[in-house]
Amino acid sequence: MKKYSIGIDLGGTKILTALVIRETGEVVAHVKKKTKKEKGSHNIVRKMLASIDELLMSSGKALDEISSVGFGAAGQIDRKNGVIIAAPNLDCYDLNLKEILYEKFNIPVFAGNDVEIAATGEQKFGAGKGCNDFVCVFVGTGVGSSIVKNGKIIYGATGTAGEIGHIIVDLNGRQCACGAHGCLEAYASRSAIEKRIEGALKKGRKSCILDYLEPGKSITSSMIQKSIEREDELVVQCVTEASEYLSGGLASIINFINPELIILGGGLIEASDYFYQKTVKKAKAKSLPVPAEKIQFKKAALGDYSGVVGAAFLEDRGF
Ligand SMILES: [Zn+2]
Repeated sequence: MKKYSIGIDLGGTKILTALVIRETGEVVAHVKKKTKKEKGSHNIVRKMLASIDELLMSSGKALDEISSVGFGAAGQIDRKNGVIIAAPNLDCYDLNLKEILYEKFNIPVFAGNDVEIAATGEQKFGAGKGCNDFVCVFVGTGVGSSIVKNGKIIYGATGTAGEIGHIIVDLNGRQCACGAHGCLEAYASRSAIEKRIEGALKKGRKSCILDYLEPGKSITSSMIQKSIEREDELVVQCVTEASEYLSGGLASIINFINPELIILGGGLIEASDYFYQKTVKKAKAKSLPVPAEKIQFKKAALGDYSGVVGAAFLEDRGF
């Protein structure tokens, strides 16, 4: 067996590429580049290929030491053919990355979605190690999840199982990016919280988050946490509201799937223990008593690396 694999996490803000030791999951080297989707998918492909070159160069490894390249992106992925069918966050459509990567490097290529690679990373080396029955929920621009049952990821009939962000929590609710109304991610994602805060600021509400916010820049998870620490009324109100909805979504998972464990990850979960603790407590309170008693919660353990590590191990899945 070759010693290394390469994992790529294609995100809306950054492209993270890493060289991973297959035996231990250790990241030996990584390259981070800004996505800048407005420059088009050609630019994303160019950056991705350059990242692999840089990775090999900086680590001094040769291509014949690499077992495979795996990539994951937020959106609809044709795993078998390695095609990004639709990834609005990257502005990529019908992009055959497998072909492009194989043509350039001539090594096996494997594809997945963003939460699937993060769940795979956590399962192999993070918070899901030793557990065969869990759900990973990542809260960021959207709310995504991946379901692991008997140690394997559940894909569903069209490969889209786990879209917890689009369960309907309010029949006449806010418009979601998917076109429907009242989806969970329109209430519980970091972007939903940002929109609530920005809307209130425009209406003249006061908040200490303005101390951190530069003009033209967007609100980050760490700004939200700093404002919570200062007991800012507006931010605490918006985060509490999001936590209320997210806990409802998690309670639905607990009742519907009855997993042993839920792993929570994403920028806001990492930045804010307040948000995490509040959400976990409420999710248990909203679930049916029997599954609620058994359910465990953990924070994702690999941080920024869960996606790249998981992507590097997509080849174990076999397609
Ligand atoms: Zn939706």
